Amino acid sequence: MEHIENDSQFAGLTVNSGVKQPPSVNPYLTKRKRKPMPTVGEMVEGILKGDITMLSRAVTLVESLSADHQAIAQEVIEKCLPYSGNSRRIGITGVPGAGKSTSIDVFGLHVLKSGGKLAVLAIDPSSERTKGSILGDKTRMEKLSVHPAAFIRPSPSAGSLGGVARKTRETIVLCEAAGYNNIFVETVGVGQSETAVHSMVDFFLLIQLAGTGDELQGIKRGIMEMADGIVINKADGDNVDRARLAQAQFRSALMLFPPAASGWSPEVLTYSGYFELGIPEVWDMIDRYFDFVKANGYFERKRSEQARYWMYETINERLRSSFYNDPEIERRLAEGEARVLANRQTSFAAARDVLDFYFSDILKK
Ligand code: GDP
Repeated sequence: MEHIENDSQFAGLTVNSGVKQPPSVNPYLTKRKRKPMPTVGEMVEGILKGDITMLSRAVTLVESLSADHQAIAQEVIEKCLPYSGNSRRIGITGVPGAGKSTSIDVFGLHVLKSGGKLAVLAIDPSSERTKGSILGDKTRMEKLSVHPAAFIRPSPSAGSLGGVARKTRETIVLCEAAGYNNIFVETVGVGQSETAVHSMVDFFLLIQLAGTGDELQGIKRGIMEMADGIVINKADGDNVDRARLAQAQFRSALMLFPPAASGWSPEVLTYSGYFELGIPEVWDMIDRYFDFVKANGYFERKRSEQARYWMYETINERLRSSFYNDPEIERRLAEGEARVLANRQTSFAAARDVLDFYFSDILKK
């Protein structure tokens, strides 16, 4: 008997035999076809129409490591280039915990109040953060992530800073072609990534915190020098006085710096991203900056300098990856390194040997 419960002694109880266990692999899945890759023309057309799916697919190609994808991506970028440039590119940096995501959420909504569209991109070359968990993660920007006019894209996954930054820079072009007239580029305020962000934005906003008592000590001078605006977040509750004190300290520290090439004197403001206090004031400052640099010609000059910078950066990055990603070079580098470490060859001779091999054998192939 299949089910003991069906014996006559258990009257009133009938157990039907169950349905067959489904296979662990869903057989229907195999029938689902992957969407064919759109052509370059279709992608460009979609992007220019503001189609988010096409934009996302093109960005995925920009980020892809495959040479085929890269080739298509470059074609798409080139076709989009004439439609790009018409945006305000704003870099936002601050140490983890400074309140970048909270602030970007409210800054973003504020910007979108006057219409237009906003893309939030990120640069974070450190591997442990690039799994989409921290920077650019949609869940960190609750309101923006559901806003129809916002496009949020996490940092391209780990790689050299130059590579990650180039991809973000290319993504800016695509977003602008898709009609995003506000671009935020976020980065963690630790390390070199600020320089990369600075080289692709018009305005660089540094988010700082007060209340630690040693405000100015932990700040790398270089980052402060890059900032067009410093904003002290969390100016709420008992923190207001400390934020004001920090504001005064930053203002006097800034006076010691040489004047910026833009002719603009960086401003220092306090605000609260969480309680949404002082947000319009921060944005008024940014508006004033754009008026100022557009009037004195610095805006255009900086953009052309950045274009030149990215031309060389792209060359450097391609040369470096062509060299370091070659398996034979990798092998020879390891051998050379071992000889140098064992004092059997000088660093210069070891470098020359590998480079000679690269120029004479690999490049000629
Ligand atoms: P991020 O790491 O720079 O992106 O910082 P988050 O936006 O994740 O914020 C870090 C923490 O600071 C979170 O717990 C926020 O709730 C808190 N926070 C952010 N902005 C403010 C603010 O304006 N005031 C206060 N009191 N807390 C804030």
